[in-house]
Amino acid sequence: MTHRILILGGTSEARHLAGKLAARSDLSVTLSLAGRTESPVAQGVPVRSGGFGGADGLAAYLREAGIDLLIDATHPYAAQISANAAQASRLTGVPILALRRPGWKPVDGDRWTQVDRTGDAVHALGSTPRRAFLALGRQEVAAFEAAPQHHYLVRSVDPVEPKLAVPDATYLLARGPFREADERALLEEHRIDGVVSKNSGGEATYGKIAAARALGIEVVMVRRPILPEVPSAETVEALAAMIDHGLDPVAERGV
Ligand code: NAP
Repeated sequence: MTHRILILGGTSEARHLAGKLAARSDLSVTLSLAGRTESPVAQGVPVRSGGFGGADGLAAYLREAGIDLLIDATHPYAAQISANAAQASRLTGVPILALRRPGWKPVDGDRWTQVDRTGDAVHALGSTPRRAFLALGRQEVAAFEAAPQHHYLVRSVDPVEPKLAVPDATYLLARGPFREADERALLEEHRIDGVVSKNSGGEATYGKIAAARALGIEVVMVRRPILPEVPSAETVEALAAMIDHGLDPVAERGV
């Protein structure tokens, strides 16, 4: 019997998990993307794109598509879709598993200032003009218009449109992974004295954190949002190993 799995993605782990599960003949895997990135990398499995219309819309999709297991493998800062996923699971009885990569922890030599929201990161930069590297999504950087005295180096996957209403900003388009040596060269080249980052976890974007440590640069770290408590694993391998357990309720229901 084939089990249908819907993976909520938008991360490299979701793509890897989808590829791994799609290799199993007993599973039929669909990957869901929000549809924000203009040219997403090839995912290698069937993809659906765009919002569902809240938790109710996702619940309706789960019922209509006959999904047996929902996997939330979205980015740790994508709190709305994770909340919707937990709610849709409750509404439908479709079991849910989450892939939650652990956050980074400060180590000796790190100069982190931790804040709860992007808006707080703007204040944390202070009033004196600085040269700040914003390694944030294009939706979040608009908050920094409130502090036009700083120079900003903004790196994003898609262009920041409209550009920030600040006098001094440089834009870089790039998609990770980013190596520490390259990040260090970037920080030095642009004479950066402050990095603003999310605590994304994982290796692909850790290079800037390690580079900032090596150069003695402050990192303003936006803390993670609170996510719903659902059964979860920290790695693709661990989650893949949980799949049979995640599908148990299906077997118990006799579906
Ligand atoms: P969000 O605020 O949690 O979600 C906003 C809305 O976007 C959701 O309510 C949902 O719309 C739709 N959505 C989000 N993820 C979706 C998915 N995988 N499939 C279908 N619809 C989805 O999310 P976000 O922070 O804007 O992130 C959007 C996507 O980018 C996510 O897939 C996430 O994994 C990825 N991403 C986010 C970040 C980040 O820092 N936030 C970083 C890297 C990648 P409806 O309510 O209409 O269903």
